[in-house]
Amino acid sequence: MISEHSIELVKSNIDIVDTISNYIELKKNGTNYKARCPFHGEKTPSFVVSSVKQIYHCFGCGVSGDAIKFIMEHDKLTYIETIEKLASDYNITLEYTKTKTVNIDFSILDSVNNYYKKSLHKNDEILKYLSSRGVFESSIEKFDIGYADANNDFLNFLKSLNIDFQEALKVGILGKGDSGDYYAVFRQRIIFPIYSLKNKVVGFGGRTTIEHNSKYVNSPQSMVFNKSRLLYGYSQARNNIIQSDKVIIAEGYLDVVLLHQAGFCNCVATLGTAMTKEHIPIISRLTKNVLLAYDGDKAGKNAAYKAMRLIQDSSLKGNVCLFDDGVDPADLVASGDIQKLQDIFSNSKNGIEYIFEFIVDKYDLDVSSQKQTAFDECIGFFNTLSNVMQYEYKSFLANLLKLDDKIIPIYRQKQTKRVIIENEDTAELSVLKTMVQNPILIDDVIEYIEYDMFVYHKREFLSIIKDVNSKEALEVSLRDEIECLNDEHFFKQITILMSRFYQSLRKRKLKENLSLSEKSYIMRKIEENIKILKTNTFPTFDENITQYFH
Ligand SMILES: [Zn+2]
Repeated sequence: MISEHSIELVKSNIDIVDTISNYIELKKNGTNYKARCPFHGEKTPSFVVSSVKQIYHCFGCGVSGDAIKFIMEHDKLTYIETIEKLASDYNITLEYTKTKTVNIDFSILDSVNNYYKKSLHKNDEILKYLSSRGVFESSIEKFDIGYADANNDFLNFLKSLNIDFQEALKVGILGKGDSGDYYAVFRQRIIFPIYSLKNKVVGFGGRTTIEHNSKYVNSPQSMVFNKSRLLYGYSQARNNIIQSDKVIIAEGYLDVVLLHQAGFCNCVATLGTAMTKEHIPIISRLTKNVLLAYDGDKAGKNAAYKAMRLIQDSSLKGNVCLFDDGVDPADLVASGDIQKLQDIFSNSKNGIEYIFEFIVDKYDLDVSSQKQTAFDECIGFFNTLSNVMQYEYKSFLANLLKLDDKIIPIYRQKQTKRVIIENEDTAELSVLKTMVQNPILIDDVIEYIEYDMFVYHKREFLSIIKDVNSKEALEVSLRDEIECLNDEHFFKQITILMSRFYQSLRKRKLKENLSLSEKSYIMRKIEENIKILKTNTFPTFDENITQYFH
């Protein structure tokens, strides 16, 4: 872990204008800087950087934060990765505190990786095999493909480097037999090193070259090698996934290697396991669009269904394409059939349709009891969709089940809060901005004002009186065109807001259906307050007079 002290040192050295200028061109605008927002497409700049507050904010899409947040969002890095990047940009040496729990020597894996790579180049037969599968030399380099030879050679190699077998066992390259003998986990296998998200070798996948019963072997699950959190090819594909805003998830290591070779550089694979919940956040940091490129056999179809359900439960969007007749993406690349591959990818099936079809395929719709089960199972999934999606897929599902549209019920999801786009009011905004810049004024007026006095900016008002550092407060304070008022103008403006409020309250109360005594009490109160306001004094806010129309 990076020490607190180092993190503070980095933070105190960075300047937001400096940092963001490395990414986009900033133009001075009043006390702030402006630019076109790098996080959403726009023609007129609404991205503001404040050098005083050391923050950025976009009035178009609402993103905001400090320099660290900017780099995290822009480069899709974690907090720690960002600190490391900034430290190297600013020439700051980071101190690391040792974590006590994980004490694993990663350098062993690097040495072993190099050993496997060298072994491959000494072995013509294996190189020939890779070439026959269509793998170019450049791909061997890109993916650091290697070869694990016989057992004794590997043990001798470890001995020659004085690597402790106990340590080698911990990182999953050695196993220990019942008799206590150590043995190499990978023997006579083509080696695909597997990198962590931080680009460190954490394990290996090995494909047999002697038709061993287990075609593929992976490093055993360990502290450093957690299959459900790793993706093969992640390091190589990462930037391309961001650029293309899409990820292709294949099933095999060779598929990934050859798809990259054919120009599909946004391809990764799960490690011989199905996709898990833990993969979702790793993917969604880079893109929301997933294309599953799975085998068309039964296992592949099942895996695609399970993965698609996970995808549908998350914020991701998914499509599926299945490769039939035992032809996988690797074969198509090897035989030079890139056009066919392209066609399969562009004719991929929408994930929601895939799920419905997968369910319905299990049943015989001519048997009414089975049709009922298919219907129930489909509706179970249908109900998890948003209302818009339910309307969108209603006919599709009815068609699939050979039923009338009318029988598909729309299940009402809880309404998500609609964002109401209000008109703006400069006077209200000036009051709010002044309150943010001068929080002490809030104490002076808080007992007299109420959120109903703000016609257009109730939400901002509530958020500002709760917290002058809230996002809404930030937005208001960064708006250069909104005037910040001096004390005299501020109180004057508050008086105007209050008068407006009591005038409109009087109109509404007159129309309301109240008892005569209630009405006369309220009207008297309102008139009194308007009178007080005319003397430039604030009337105390009386909840009794508004409670009826809430
Ligand atoms: Zn924006």
